[in-house]
Amino acid sequence: MISVANLKKSYGDHTVLDGVSIEIQRGEVVAMIGPSGAGKSTLLRCLNLLERPDSGRITIGDTVVDLPAKIPVRTLETLRKTAGMVFQSFNLFPHLSVLRNVSLAQEYVLGRDAKAAHQRSMELLERVGLADKAGSYPARLSGGQQQRIAIARALAMEPEVMLFDEPTSALDPELGLDVLAVMRELAASGMTMVVVTHEIHFAQDVSDRVVMMADGGIIEQGDPAQVLSSPANPRTQRFLKAVI
Ligand code: ATP
Ligand code: MG
Repeated sequence: MISVANLKKSYGDHTVLDGVSIEIQRGEVVAMIGPSGAGKSTLLRCLNLLERPDSGRITIGDTVVDLPAKIPVRTLETLRKTAGMVFQSFNLFPHLSVLRNVSLAQEYVLGRDAKAAHQRSMELLERVGLADKAGSYPARLSGGQQQRIAIARALAMEPEVMLFDEPTSALDPELGLDVLAVMRELAASGMTMVVVTHEIHFAQDVSDRVVMMADGGIIEQGDPAQVLSSPANPRTQRFLKAVI
């Protein structure tokens, strides 16, 4: 489903991704952990080309991107539809209702008519437990509710892959639980997911694989139980001691 080969990204003379390669199967849930500055967000942002990698190859579904060649606009559009992204900050449109936040891009990007977009939005709001908030504005919602709306909005593009960058780290732990519950349900439904997270329990219970990044590369990966409870790499051992 996702294949990344020898991906490199630098800012000036600071190498952030130093030749990262990873294969992710359809339906797989990958939890990505690692210290601040490891390059986790950069890797995620490179996957849907919010950030332009310097070199390497990214394949998501049927879309192949070979860097450093120019990326056709069509490819960009396809990739962004294929890979939905949810950020730490929810980035909802503050001047639009919850329903409109979820339906807008369905009309303008997918070309759905207003009625179909409305119907699909309500299904998705139901799915994230917030159908009763359809008419509210984001400012009236808790952070956890806003994040669930952001997930519904991403799902409205019918993505094949969902990328999450620390979706609960800006939330009170209790509010984060509702978001994690939605993500669990999504994982159980067979969605391919890459989740950057410090929620070790979530990684343990929900992911199929834990990937540990440090210094711009993957230093260890494998079965969650093995990586999280008896990591082989001393760097992973130190990191887990600090976060658990
Ligand atoms: P965190 O856990 O703190 O979110 P991370 O693993 O997500 O960390 P990245 O955000 O990918 O780390 O950043 C990796 C490195 O790249 C950091 O040293 C950061 O300062 C640098 N960096 C990221 N974005 C930019 C940018 N736009 N310009 C310059 N440097 C950047
Ligand atoms: Mg980050």
